[in-house]
Amino acid sequence: MLKQKIVLIGNGMAGVRCIEEMLKIQPNHFEITIFGSEPHPNYNRILLSKVLQGDTTIDDITLNDWNWYEENGIQLYTGETVTHIDTAKQVVYSDKNREVRYDQLILATGSLPFILPIPGVDKEGVTGFRDIQDCEKMMEYSNKYKKAAVIGGGLLGLEAARGLLDLGMEVDVVHLSDYLMDRQLDPAASKLLQKELEGQGMNFLLGKNTQEVIGNTHVEGLRFSDGEEIKADLVVMAVGIKPHIQLAIDSEIPVNRGIIVNDYMETNIPNVYAVGECAEHRGVVYGLVAPLYEQGKVLAKRICGIEGDPYEGTVLSTQLKVSGVDVFSAGEIFENEQTKTIKSFNDWEGTYKNVLIQDGKIIGAVLFGDTKEGNKLLSFINKRADVTEYLEAEKGEEAGASLVATMPNEEIICGCNGVTKGDIVQAIESQGLTSVEEVKGCTSASRSCGGCKSLVADLLECTLGDAFSKSNQKEPICSCTTLSRDDVIAEIREKNLTHTREVMSVLGWTTSEGCSKCRPALNYYLGMVNPLEYKDERESRYVNERLHANIQKDGTFSVVPRMYGGVTNSDQLRKIADVADKYNVPLLKVTGGQRIDMFGVKKEDLPKVWADLDMPSGYAYGKTLRTVKTCVGESFCRFGTQDSMGLGIALEKKFERVGTPHKFKMAVSACPRNCAESGIKDLGVVGVDGAWEIYVGGNGGTHLRAADLLCKVKTSDEVIEITGAYFQYYRETAVYLERTSVWVERMGLDSIRAVIEDKQNRIELNQRLNEALSVLQDPWKEALNSDRILKDLYQSVKVPAGVK
Ligand SMILES: Cc1cc2nc3c(=O)[nH]c(=O)nc-3n(C[C@H](O)[C@H](O)[C@H](O)COP(=O)(O)OP(=O)(O)OC[C@H]3O[C@@H](n4cnc5c(N)ncnc54)[C@H](O)[C@@H]3O)c2cc1C
Ligand code: SF4
Repeated sequence: MLKQKIVLIGNGMAGVRCIEEMLKIQPNHFEITIFGSEPHPNYNRILLSKVLQGDTTIDDITLNDWNWYEENGIQLYTGETVTHIDTAKQVVYSDKNREVRYDQLILATGSLPFILPIPGVDKEGVTGFRDIQDCEKMMEYSNKYKKAAVIGGGLLGLEAARGLLDLGMEVDVVHLSDYLMDRQLDPAASKLLQKELEGQGMNFLLGKNTQEVIGNTHVEGLRFSDGEEIKADLVVMAVGIKPHIQLAIDSEIPVNRGIIVNDYMETNIPNVYAVGECAEHRGVVYGLVAPLYEQGKVLAKRICGIEGDPYEGTVLSTQLKVSGVDVFSAGEIFENEQTKTIKSFNDWEGTYKNVLIQDGKIIGAVLFGDTKEGNKLLSFINKRADVTEYLEAEKGEEAGASLVATMPNEEIICGCNGVTKGDIVQAIESQGLTSVEEVKGCTSASRSCGGCKSLVADLLECTLGDAFSKSNQKEPICSCTTLSRDDVIAEIREKNLTHTREVMSVLGWTTSEGCSKCRPALNYYLGMVNPLEYKDERESRYVNERLHANIQKDGTFSVVPRMYGGVTNSDQLRKIADVADKYNVPLLKVTGGQRIDMFGVKKEDLPKVWADLDMPSGYAYGKTLRTVKTCVGESFCRFGTQDSMGLGIALEKKFERVGTPHKFKMAVSACPRNCAESGIKDLGVVGVDGAWEIYVGGNGGTHLRAADLLCKVKTSDEVIEITGAYFQYYRETAVYLERTSVWVERMGLDSIRAVIEDKQNRIELNQRLNEALSVLQDPWKEALNSDRILKDLYQSVKVPAGVK
C-alpha cells in the first residue's frame, strides 16, 4: 500500500502530539517528514523555567528523543526552516534548498515572543523567553552581570524572574497593571502572590509603562513613561506571544490573528491544516497546551479518516508551577453585578479561594495556597455545574471522603493531556500500576506541567487501598530509566554491578551514555555501596569535582586549602601569601566557612599552586564534608566552657573527603550564643552545661531551615560516634543531591533518631563509614603524583556534553 505523505512544519509540542495520536490510530500508514527550526528533538517547553533555574538539563525535558523519530520511521530535519509552501503543487521548500512533496500538510509553527515596539529593544541584552536558546542566553548573562529586569508580571514573566533569581541575579519585575497575573487572578489573590514572591527576593514595579530601553550598544536600563529609570544589564520581555504565521501569509493561507481553522483544524486550502499556538479557532488563539493537545487529537482523527467529535474550544485554567507558590485560576475571575461568590481566606495558612457563580452555575474560580480542588472546579466550570452539586461535593470531603473518591469518572485529572479519572483508574486496574510514574508512562497524566501529580497519587491510594503506600512512591532517577534510586541500589547490591555503564546496560537504560542526572548519581551510589573496590569515575562527575577546584565565571578557578576547624597559623598564612604573589592571584577572600579562598587561578597553574601550598584540599567544590566552623570557645571566650575548636578539628579530620549525596556542613559552638551558627548546619554541635547538644538538618542557603535537636551527649567522643552514624545513615539512604534539610523532613526526625539511638546500629554504621574513609587520599596530592591526571585534566579540560 502506498503510504500517505505527511509533512509537519514545526517540531514542537502541538504538532508532534498530533503525529503521536496519528501513529496510535494507524501506525504504518504514513510517510512522515518533520521540519523544526530549533536544533533539538521535541522538548517540553513548559519546563524551560526548570532549565533556567539550573535544576534540569535539556536532555531531561526531551519529550521525544532521536530514537523515537527513528523507531517510527520519521524523517526529521532539525535546524531547518520551511520558507515557502506551494499549496497548488503540494510542495514545501526549506532554507536548505530541500523540496518535499506532501499529501497532507500540518502547520504547527507555534508563536514568537512579543517584543514591545519601543526604542532600544534591539540592544544587546534584550531577550524573550520562548526557547532553549533564550534560556542559554539568560544563563550566560547571569555569569557576567548582576541586574535583570523582566517586563511582564504574568505567568511567563514570573517564571523567568524566579529562574534569574536562582541564577544569582537581582530581579525587578515591571508590570503595566497594578496586579500581577491580572488576567488570571483577582486582586486579592494577586496581592497574596506578590507578598509571597517579594519574600523570595523579587522586586516589583507595578503600574509602570516601559517607554525605552536605555544604553549604548548594550542594555543599561529602562525608562518609564513617568520619567523614572532603573538599571538593568539584562531585559527579558515576557509581555505576551504572537502566532508565528509569516510562512502562512507568504504562502497565501488565510490568517487573521492566527491561521484560520474550522472545528476539524482544516484551513480553507485543501489538505492544509493548522494546530497549536499558530492556529485561530472560532476567533481564539490559545497559549496553553491543554487546548492544543485537544486540537491535535481532533486533527489526528481527521487525517486518519475517522469520524470524531469536532473541536469546540476550551475553558482555560492556569497553574503557577515555579516559586513554590500554589496558584490556580479558571473561567471567569472578575466579579460583577450578576455574580455571586463563595469565598474563604485563611490568613494563618496563607490560603484563599474565590468561586464565582452566575445564575446558580459555577463559572470561574481562583485558588491560592491550596490548589487541590483546581481540577474539580475546572470540571464544574466546563459543564457549568449547579452550585448545589459543588456544595454537595464539599460536604462529602468534610465528611472524610477523599476529593478524588467523590469525582465522577469523566472528570479530568490531567488538564494538560486531557486524562480523566476513569482513564487512570482503568489503567491502574488493568495494568497493575502502583506508582505515579507508571501512571504517567501509561496514560500521559502529569507528563506536561506535573501539577496533577498529587491527584494521581490520591487516585492510586483510593484505587489500591492498603496496597498503596505514598512513602514508597518511586520516582525514577532520571528519564533514562523507570527505576528509582532504591531499585537501582538494590540491583547494584544484588547483581554486584561495578561500573556506571554496566548499571546502564544491565538495567536496560534507554540511553547508552546516560545523562547529566544519572551519571553522577550512579557514580555516587556505586562508591557508597562498594567503597573498597569501586574506582571513582571522574568523567561522571560535575566539572568542579572532576577538577577539584571551583570554576569561576571568567573561566579561572578558585583554590581553597583546608584549615581544620577554621584555625590557622602564621606559617600557613605566609605560605598562602607567597603563593598568591607568585601566581598573581587577584583576590584573596575569607569565606563563610572560615578559610581563605584564592580566586582567579588559571587552570594550568592549579597543580603548581597546590604543590607550593602543600596543604590538603578544602573540598570547597565537593559533595562531601565542607568545613567544620567553630567558635573560639573555652580557649579565649569568657562564656565558653568547652573546647569547641578541639572538637571541630577532630570532626573535620575524621570525616573529611568521603562522598555524601550533597554537600555537608558542620559547626561547633561552645555555648548557646552559637557564634559558629550551629543551628543552620547539616550537623551542628552546641555546648550546654557540661554536655553537647547535636542539631541536624539545618540549612542557611536558599531554603533556610533551622536544625532540629537530635540528642544531647556528655563527651566529645560520643559526639564523634553519633556524627559518624548520622553521616553514614544519610550517605546510605538519601537520594543523590538531596540536602540533609530535605532528607530529615522526608525520613522524619523520629525515625532517624530511632536508628541512631540503637547502639548496634551506631556500631555498624560507623564500621561501614570507617571502611569508606580508610581508602581515601587527598585529591590534590593524587593529581600531583599522576602524570596521566595532570595531562588529561589540567592541560586540556574536557567537559562531556550535558554535564555542567
Ligand atoms: C517558559 C514557558 C512556560 C510555559 N508554561 C506553560 C504551562 O505551565 N502550561 C501550559 O499549558 N503551557 C505553558 N507554556 C506554553 C506552551 O509551551 C505552548 O503552548 C506550547 O509549547 C505550544 O506548542 P506549539 O507546538 O503550538 O508551538 P511550539 O512548541 O512553539 O513549537 C513550534 C515549533 O515550530 C518551529 N517553527 C516555526 N516556524 C517554522 C518553520 N517555518 N519551519 C520549521 N520549524 C518552524 C519553532 O521553531 C518551534 O520549535 C509555556 C511556554 C513557555 C515558553
Ligand atoms: S558560642 Fe559562646 S563560647 Fe563560643 S564564642 Fe560565642 S559566646 Fe563564646
